[in-house]
Amino acid sequence: MSKSPEQFNIYSEKQAQEEAQKMQEKISKGEARDYSEAEQQVEAEKKYDPKSEYHVDLEDPEVKEKIEQAQKLYREFLQENFEKFDLSNEQSIEDVYNKAVEAGVFNKAEEIRELVFGKDIHFYGVSYLWDACVNHCHYCPGSVPNRQKAIKEGKEFPLRELSVPQAVEDTKAVMKDGHKHVCYLTGSTPSIDKYPDKIIPYLESVIEETKDDGLKEIILNVEPLTEEGFRKVAEAVRTVNERLGTNVSLQFRVFQETYNREVYTQMHPKGPKADYDFRIESQARALKAGVDNVGLGALFGLNKLPLEEIEALRQHAERLETEFGKAPARICLPSANELENIGVEIPYFIKRGIYNAGRKELAEKGNYERFDELIYALARLAMPKVNIVSSERDGEAMLKILDKYATCSTLNVHPGVGDNAKLFPKEEKEEFANVHFEQTTTFPRDPKSTIEEMKKRGYNPILGEIE
Ligand code: SF4
Repeated sequence: MSKSPEQFNIYSEKQAQEEAQKMQEKISKGEARDYSEAEQQVEAEKKYDPKSEYHVDLEDPEVKEKIEQAQKLYREFLQENFEKFDLSNEQSIEDVYNKAVEAGVFNKAEEIRELVFGKDIHFYGVSYLWDACVNHCHYCPGSVPNRQKAIKEGKEFPLRELSVPQAVEDTKAVMKDGHKHVCYLTGSTPSIDKYPDKIIPYLESVIEETKDDGLKEIILNVEPLTEEGFRKVAEAVRTVNERLGTNVSLQFRVFQETYNREVYTQMHPKGPKADYDFRIESQARALKAGVDNVGLGALFGLNKLPLEEIEALRQHAERLETEFGKAPARICLPSANELENIGVEIPYFIKRGIYNAGRKELAEKGNYERFDELIYALARLAMPKVNIVSSERDGEAMLKILDKYATCSTLNVHPGVGDNAKLFPKEEKEEFANVHFEQTTTFPRDPKSTIEEMKKRGYNPILGEIE
């Protein structure tokens, strides 16, 4: 009987199974960093799973204990300051901030962030598909009443809607910044029943046209759909993935804006968004319908009690995890900010400190900066294992502070339809050429220099190649 040559070290089935098992364990613990090239390849081909971002085994007793300590500190702070932290009294921000310093909130939040996520910073890019919206949100320049007001004041801006090929172009422009996760936003349409048929061709084409570019995730930050609607969208994404051999994950994300029902009703008097319950239940419907992941968010500055929002986000996240075994993939904590294009109504606008060089340097911390740091630190303590997002609604100097608690950020966001690919250059009437809907003022960062600067500060930015 011939013997195998010595150099052919035959791999037994048992060994192969053991290797596969080891690899699976590494994947579930998020230890992708230690992979061999082949393992990294396998990881890259796997569907995005937020759990892959953890640096530790969350079931490890020592890790569990540290998480419990962080949450305990959060609960004590919440109990003591729930009503004292009140945006109708700006002095309370400074007072509560100082108490948080004394209680060790910031140090503990940073510690728990580094325990669970290391120094990693994840990113996603943003593309607005259309801006027409039937809602009446008081704080948004694109809402029906605010648009009417703008038109009366002679500040009309043309509505924009990308065609499917334009959406692909805009996506490719976003991906040139190294993004593998792309968030799509749209205004609300008159009929949610027709929405799936409207959005599906965009998703199919984006997946198809980026199939060689490594798109990992679509974050659909759009109006809540019915369970049937979500099922249709999830099914369409699954079908196109199967057809192309791609593995693009689908996340549905919607911000509750405020979890306080009374404030919610004041802020959203009409339109489909007026239905608080339909919105708050939407993540559960999406998961039931087979969407891979969900995201939550609150917009600070609407409710005078910011701790009510953090606690409600925590409870919402906990309910989803208990019911579906899935914590939200990301949680967003933006603050309503200055809108340079149209004045809008923001109940509790907190004055910013003094910045130099755009927003690159913070010369003097104001109450806003204290407030913002505090809500991120408290959210980190409340939800240690959730990827918390900072956004370019804050400028570079503030974002550096938030890096201590947030584990994901936007990068080079242009909040106008088609602005990533500069799809509307001076095509419209001359006087409106640069006037268009922007949901918020943003401070986009240059990807290359931002990444280099983060590395210098000891962070590990996780982004694809920047072209
Ligand atoms: S915040 Fe969103 S839902 Fe509300 S009016 Fe603006 S675009 Fe529409």
